[in-house]
Amino acid sequence: MITHDVIIVGSGLAGMRCAVEIRRKAPQADIAIVSKIYPTRSHSGAAQGGIAAPLGNVRYDENQMPVPDSEENPQDNWQIHMYDTVKGADFIGDQDAIEILCREAAPTIYELEHMGVPFSRLPDGRIAQRPFGGHANPRACYAADRTGHALLHTLYGELVRYDIKVYPESYMLGLVVEDNICRGITVMDIRTGQIETIQAKATMFGTGGYGRAFKITSNAFSSTGDGITAAYRVGLPLEDMEFVQFHPTGLFSHGILLSEGARGEGGYLLNGLGERFMTRYAPGRMELAPRDVVSRAIYAEIEAGRGAGPNADYVLLDLRHLGKKKLDERLPQITELARDYLGIDPVTEPVPIQPTAHYSMGGIPTDADGRVVTTIDGQDTVIVGFFAAGECACASVHGANRLGTNSLLEATVFGRRTGQTIANFLLGEARDGRGLAPMPAYALKQAEDEVAELLSRRGSENHADIRKELQATMFGNAGVFRQPDKLTQQLGIINDLRERFQRISLDDRGRKYNTELVDVLELSHLLEFSECIVAGALAREESRGAHARRDFPKRDDAKWMKHTLAFRGADGRPQLTYKPVRYGPEGPRFQPEERKY
Ligand SMILES: Cc1cc2nc3c(=O)[nH]c(=O)nc-3n(C[C@H](O)[C@H](O)[C@H](O)COP(=O)(O)OP(=O)(O)OC[C@H]3O[C@@H](n4cnc5c(N)ncnc54)[C@H](O)[C@@H]3O)c2cc1C
Repeated sequence: MITHDVIIVGSGLAGMRCAVEIRRKAPQADIAIVSKIYPTRSHSGAAQGGIAAPLGNVRYDENQMPVPDSEENPQDNWQIHMYDTVKGADFIGDQDAIEILCREAAPTIYELEHMGVPFSRLPDGRIAQRPFGGHANPRACYAADRTGHALLHTLYGELVRYDIKVYPESYMLGLVVEDNICRGITVMDIRTGQIETIQAKATMFGTGGYGRAFKITSNAFSSTGDGITAAYRVGLPLEDMEFVQFHPTGLFSHGILLSEGARGEGGYLLNGLGERFMTRYAPGRMELAPRDVVSRAIYAEIEAGRGAGPNADYVLLDLRHLGKKKLDERLPQITELARDYLGIDPVTEPVPIQPTAHYSMGGIPTDADGRVVTTIDGQDTVIVGFFAAGECACASVHGANRLGTNSLLEATVFGRRTGQTIANFLLGEARDGRGLAPMPAYALKQAEDEVAELLSRRGSENHADIRKELQATMFGNAGVFRQPDKLTQQLGIINDLRERFQRISLDDRGRKYNTELVDVLELSHLLEFSECIVAGALAREESRGAHARRDFPKRDDAKWMKHTLAFRGADGRPQLTYKPVRYGPEGPRFQPEERKY
């Protein structure tokens, strides 16, 4: 058994930022990070468009063009950012957490700047900012269209500077929680196949999102919801899993992202008739309406027969008017992606796009300080020693729909806050060995048995076929628009796929670098949490944010202003309960209103 004071699973922005904060606040703490991929390959590195903060460096002029703002009297502030976020979330976001996100945004950016993040600049040297959907002011701070790469690598530098131990290519197999106290994790070294338990006073998950449940997705291969499934399997609830964000501009048939920064820089959408169709759906904000609004508009155009291409099944992102110089300077990566994957040069041709599964609003419920909570008899109850932040967590700052650039912010703000909470926990409650709860003997055996059992299966099913079928049907039946018959059908499909999963067979039965085994473990997670997405979506009889029911097209605050919690029932199936939306001590800062853009 390995022992550390803190074990962090995930070396994306949230996990790394958390580790650095613990080291700063509790320098003696023994901290280690487990990551299934090398830290700098974590999915955060793929983020393109920017990270939000109301710095007020840029404002809109009278023609709605972004121009430098005055330093003395900036137009933007955290209250406007908060209002945009609460409204973007379709009023179901937890306002206590959203307030923290927006209040702490500006200092977070300056802190990142001081760590060395190479932000793009205005001519006067201030951090440049560009417009993003649903934000009233241009507040996306960016490093060309490689913002996530710049952030991730800067933080990795901090990790090295603070000499934090990393177990790369190590796969967290399971979480160990007993009597509401987290004991640590079980883990497999992918290189050797060896399985260990890691006991810790504090366990933190920064395991990222779960877009890989869908066929068309912008997410990395590693975004398979391992952390959320591990939490679910030990009896913790998953919150608001039905809210899955579809980003409007995925490369057609690939799903690879063309950042919203493209529309922030002035790119626009055209249908097959060459019309800027957003005039019909969001005349006030056009292409810079929130993602849920734009994604639905694209489908509405396609369904009305106004799509582009031979089968009229996509629309076009037009960047030609921006010119080569601006594209090379501000959007080099996405220009390259369009050339490499579709053979289309955005300098001279509009790019075929379609909505792509992009972001997981739901996840492991936490309070605003990163403590994981479960609900017992209607009360939030903290799981001692277990923390989460970033995309796998649900502090519910995004509610039913995330605004672009708010998730890099969430990962850094809540990564840091969770680090502070853990440092306080180590220096207080868990000081001098207190809090190092024993690792139960069954944990190692259970992990070893699970892996041995998978390796011994001799069935006729191929796991890759099962994954493909799951992803295709999830995209078709639980995508941008939902309806009860398709959701019910999808529950049946998942049930069948889970049965077929019992009959798989692995070609590689070795222990060393068995990536097929990792694929199979990940598939078991996809099958398990997808059921929570679908069950939550079937139950929620309203349309809110990214969850659009054809049979209930309106938001229903009287019945549905509440968070879904999915617990794993005795039969292995999700059991749904609900909990209220959280506000600050003085109640909601912003009351629900109709969302218009
Ligand atoms: C293409 C793309 C572009 C985006 N652009 C933006 C943007 O411009 N602005 C913005 O705000 N947001 C953007 N986002 C969203 C944002 O990038 C993510 O929400 C954020 O980076 C998530 O960070 P994280 O630290 O929570 O997780 P991740 O960066 O996904 O890291 C997850 C970590 O968990 C580890 N892990 C997972 N499972 C296991 C396991 N079983 N064992 C061991 N380790 C495990 C992985 O190895 C990885 O290190 C974008 C997303 C995509 C897909």
